[in-house]
Amino acid sequence: MSSDAGDSPEQSSFRQAARAWLVENLNPLVVEQSQGSLLSSPTIDDLPEARRVQQLLVDGGYAGISWPREYGGRGGSVIDELIFDQEAADFHMPVDIFVIGTHLVGPTLITHGTPEQQDRFLPRILDGSDVWCQLFSEPEAGSDLAGLRASAREDGDDWIVNGQKVWTSGASTSNWGIMPVRTDPTVPKHRGISYFAVDMESEGVTVRPLRQMSGHEHFCEVFLDDVRIPATNLIGDLNGGWNVTRTTLQNERHMTGASHGAVNFDSLLSLARDSGRLTDDVLEPVVRQRLVDVYIDGEIIRLLGLRTMSALFQGKEPGPESSVAKLAVATMVRKAADLALELTGPGGTVHSGDDDLDGWLDFFLMAPALRIAGGTDEIQRNILGERVLGLPRANDPTRTLAFNDPQTSQEG
Ligand SMILES: Cc1cc2nc3c(=O)[nH]c(=O)nc-3n(C[C@H](O)[C@H](O)[C@H](O)COP(=O)(O)OP(=O)(O)OC[C@H]3O[C@@H](n4cnc5c(N)ncnc54)[C@H](O)[C@@H]3O)c2cc1C
Repeated sequence: MSSDAGDSPEQSSFRQAARAWLVENLNPLVVEQSQGSLLSSPTIDDLPEARRVQQLLVDGGYAGISWPREYGGRGGSVIDELIFDQEAADFHMPVDIFVIGTHLVGPTLITHGTPEQQDRFLPRILDGSDVWCQLFSEPEAGSDLAGLRASAREDGDDWIVNGQKVWTSGASTSNWGIMPVRTDPTVPKHRGISYFAVDMESEGVTVRPLRQMSGHEHFCEVFLDDVRIPATNLIGDLNGGWNVTRTTLQNERHMTGASHGAVNFDSLLSLARDSGRLTDDVLEPVVRQRLVDVYIDGEIIRLLGLRTMSALFQGKEPGPESSVAKLAVATMVRKAADLALELTGPGGTVHSGDDDLDGWLDFFLMAPALRIAGGTDEIQRNILGERVLGLPRANDPTRTLAFNDPQTSQEG
């Protein structure tokens, strides 16, 4: 998916070198006749192959592209990371299982970890020895993450954690997790949170996979009953965990940015052709219009992606365009999924047997997830309302009251 518009000479040569390396070391993606799955759900069985490919990336200098050299990375920029991802999209690179570690945990530890934590965790993230998950959301804290209730109390050199996390992608295949918990309920919600690394094999951690309507088990619920965590696993300051959480979320935004490639447009076009409904018949203009609509959305998202890259290149944080892009991707995916299902007809919804779902049916069933993961559509609209339209911020009295103040009604 080369997208070299606007590359500087250095970026262009990085792109060429990355492409040459990919050609030499990885297999090209077989062009799918159908749409691929929207969210991968790797299992433990996928781990050996993932580790083999991750080691190839390490050897080639393409693991941790934006990590500083002193931490084993390439010392490149976030843009280099995006360029590599663009080129790698044409190749079979089954390393999604490591993405929380390499794209969220690594950068968070580089910013906030102690030298001991960095030495202990970073090399094992880079070479795929450890698999990490992100234990942020809770049954009553998602969009309002700072309202989280899982709590930790100090006990000698340890912390003892109780609570529940949910929607944790890949928890059943992970051996480590990052986890903000409440350590001081007597101060406003953002100020009483601390951020820990938790060994998922600790006593008291129970992981239950959640099966979606597509049949995948992409995420899990995680119960924490008197889980003992050594104080050496506290990342950042005690009660300063919101700051650390924000670093992780910022890196997540880079990861879940514009993805015009979410829809395999050529496959949608073939589906329309095969359905016999892409004709000059004046009675069937709607299919053409809807196809073009999806295509235009894809192009707009591609251009928004370039704008985000250019902001990053100028050393700026991507602004509200990343919220526009996230909303646009979710909308495009919904339009494409609805059209595909209409084109396949009633038979397209039939699935009998234990084999994988047909690509478009799988895509249709997973499409709603995109409107929720990484910040819901409504939250993106709030961001746009406040930052682009200048609308007043929603009043949230719980921002200033102590978390355990009865008026916040937060502590159950
Ligand atoms: C595929 C997928 C993978 C995920 N992976 C992870 C993971 O690995 N780790 C993790 O911690 N979490 C993960 N999540 C959870 C995700 O971060 C949350 O689902 C998301 O933040 C929304 O939180 P919630 O589900 O609690 O919904 P809520 O926050 O309870 O929202 C419910 C509804 O209310 C709306 N709403 C809430 N607040 C406002 C507001 N202020 N203004 C307007 N509307 C509002 C929302 O838009 C939504 O429609 C994942 C989710 C999905 C779908």
